[in-house]
Amino acid sequence: MNYQPRLDDIHFILHDVLKAPAQLQALPSLADTDAELMRQVVDEAGKFTAQKIAPLQGVGDTIGCKFAGGKVTTPPGFKDAYQDFWQSGWPALACAPEDGGQGLPAVLEAVLFEMLSAANHGWTMAPGLLHGAYECIRHHGSEALKAQYLEKVASGEWLATMCLTEPHAGSDLGLVRTKALPQTDGSYRLSGTKIFISGGEHDLTDNIVHLVLARLPDAPAGPKGLSLFLAPKVLPDGTGNAIHCERIEEKMGLHGSPTCVMRFDWATGWLIGEPQRGLNAMFVMMNAARLHVGLQGIGLLEAAWQKADAYAKERRQMRAPKPTMSSTPDPIAEHPAMRRILATQRAWIDGGRVLAYRTAIELDIAKQHPDATRRHSAQLWCSLVTPVLKAAWTAQAFSGSSECLQVFGGHGYVREWGIEQIVRDARVSMIYEGTNEIQAIDLLVRKVLPDGGAGLSSLLLALCEGLDNRVPAHAQLGTQVAGLNQLTSALVEAAKADQELPYWVADDYLRALALTLLAWAWLQISAASQPESSSVNPARWTEPSEALRHWVLPEFGMRQHIIESRLGLRMCM
Ligand SMILES: Cc1cc2nc3c(=O)[nH]c(=O)nc-3n(C[C@H](O)[C@H](O)[C@H](O)COP(=O)(O)OP(=O)(O)OC[C@H]3O[C@@H](n4cnc5c(N)ncnc54)[C@H](O)[C@@H]3O)c2cc1C
Repeated sequence: MNYQPRLDDIHFILHDVLKAPAQLQALPSLADTDAELMRQVVDEAGKFTAQKIAPLQGVGDTIGCKFAGGKVTTPPGFKDAYQDFWQSGWPALACAPEDGGQGLPAVLEAVLFEMLSAANHGWTMAPGLLHGAYECIRHHGSEALKAQYLEKVASGEWLATMCLTEPHAGSDLGLVRTKALPQTDGSYRLSGTKIFISGGEHDLTDNIVHLVLARLPDAPAGPKGLSLFLAPKVLPDGTGNAIHCERIEEKMGLHGSPTCVMRFDWATGWLIGEPQRGLNAMFVMMNAARLHVGLQGIGLLEAAWQKADAYAKERRQMRAPKPTMSSTPDPIAEHPAMRRILATQRAWIDGGRVLAYRTAIELDIAKQHPDATRRHSAQLWCSLVTPVLKAAWTAQAFSGSSECLQVFGGHGYVREWGIEQIVRDARVSMIYEGTNEIQAIDLLVRKVLPDGGAGLSSLLLALCEGLDNRVPAHAQLGTQVAGLNQLTSALVEAAKADQELPYWVADDYLRALALTLLAWAWLQISAASQPESSSVNPARWTEPSEALRHWVLPEFGMRQHIIESRLGLRMCM
C-alpha cells in the first residue's frame, strides 16, 4: 500500500489545536489568511502527493539513480513528477508574490513537505532545499543575482543545492578548503571538491543553482573565513560551467536521491552576501532545512505507522487476552504488545506535528509580527525548538519505523511490504543537516548555557500558562518543566568549572526538552479533542495519549537521572 495523507488529522492540528488562521491573520502580509483556503491547499497538496509522488516510492528504491559519463538519470517517472510539481506552483507556495510566489503561510509549505517526505523521501530530497536557497538569495543576493536567479528558484523551474561538505570537512565546516579567486569582472573562480551533495547533478531541471561555501585568498582559517557563492550548472550565456559530477554514492537507502561528488574546476560563481560572512548567509538556508528534516522524520514515521497499522488489522495470530476470548486467532492489532508499538508512534507523530507546525507559524510571526516582543519570543521558539525537532524526531523516525517493521514479523524484513525501505531511508535524517550530536550541542552549549538558561526558562514559563495542577497531565508537565529548569541551573554552574561536562550530557538534555515539549503538545491536543470543543472523535486521540503517559514520558526521569549522576548530584545505581 502507498502512503495516503490523513487529512482530517492535519486539519485538526492546524485549525482546532493551533488555531493557525487566527494567529496568522495578525501578520500584515497574511491578514487575509482564510481558514477555508488553508483547508483547500492542504487537500490539494494531499491529492497531488498521493496521486503523483507516492506511487514512485518503490521504483525510486529498486531502480534508483544511475550515473554514466558525468550525467545522472533519475528513476523512471521522477522527472515528469517534478515538472508537474513545479508547473503546478507547489515550490512557490510560501514565496513572496513579488518573486512570483503565492505568499501563503510557511506552515502550508511545512505540511506539504511532511506529506511529500512520507510519500517518497528520495524524490522529495530534490525540492527539499529550494525554499532555503530562495530565502538565502532573497536576503543576501545582489540585485543582479536576484534578477537572474530568484524567480527561477522560487518557482522551482531550476533546482538548488547546498555545497558544504568536503572529504575532510563534515561537521567542522571551518576546515573547508574550496578556493575562490576574484576576477576583474566581479565574478569568482571556484576550485575544490565537494562530497555528499544531494541533487548535485540530475535530469529533473535544465539548470542547477549551486550554493557553495569557499575561501577567498586572504581569508583567515576557520569558519569565520568562509564566503558563500552562487555557481550555476549553466551560465547566463548558455554555456556549461566547469562543474563536474564525478560519481554518485552507493547508499544504504534513499536511492531515489543522487548523492554526488562534485568537482569545481575553476568554475564561475558570484558572491552571496558579504565576503567572509558565508556561514551567516548559509544559516538562513540551514535553519529552513533543519525544520524540513524534522518534518521528514514526522512524515517517515507516519508512513511506517500506516503500513504497520494496516498490516496489524489483517494479520491474525493467536487469541488476544481479553475478557471474552475468541475461538479463532485475533488480528495482531488486538494484542497489547502491538497496540503499544502503534500507539507510541502515534504519540510521537501527532505531538511532533503540533510542534513542527507551530514552529512554521512562529517563523512567519518572527518575520513580521507588529509587536517586537512577540517577534522576539517567536525567534526564541524557532531557535530552541528547531534543533529538538531535527534530532528527536529523526531519531524517532528510525527507531519507530524499526518498531513498525517489528509489527510485520519476518514479512517486515523482506522487500515486498516496503517497510524495510522506510527504515533504511530514515537513517540518514539523523546524520545530514548537522548530525544529531551537533544539534544537541547547538541547543545546550550554543543556545541555552550562554544566557544562563534565561531564554529557555522564558519559553518553558509560557508553556506552563494556565496549568491546573489538579489535572494529572498538567501536573506532569509542571514537574518536567521544574526538573528541566533545575538541570539547566545546575549545568550553568557546573560548566563554569568543567567546560567538557555539558558536551557529555547534551543528548540527554535535548531528549528531556523534547519530552517536555511533547507533553505540552499533547495537552493542546487533549484540550482540543474534548467532546464539547471539537467535532472530531475524541477516541481517536485517547490511545496515543495513554501511550504517551505510560511508554514515552517516563524517559524524562531517566534522562534527568543520567544528567544528575554526571553532575554528581545523584549516585548512579
Ligand atoms: C545522503 C546524504 C546527503 C547529504 N547531503 C548533503 C548536501 O546536500 N550538502 C552537503 O553539504 N552535505 C550533505 N551531506 C553531508 C552531511 O551533512 C554530513 O555527512 C554531516 O554533516 C556529517 O559530516 P561527516 O559525514 O563528515 O561526519 P563527521 O563530521 O566526521 O562526524 C562523524 C561523527 O562524529 C560526530 N562529531 C563530529 N564532530 C563532533 C563534535 N564537535 N562533537 C560531537 N560529535 C561530533 C558526528 O556527530 C558523527 O557522529 C549529506 C550526507 C548524506 C549521507
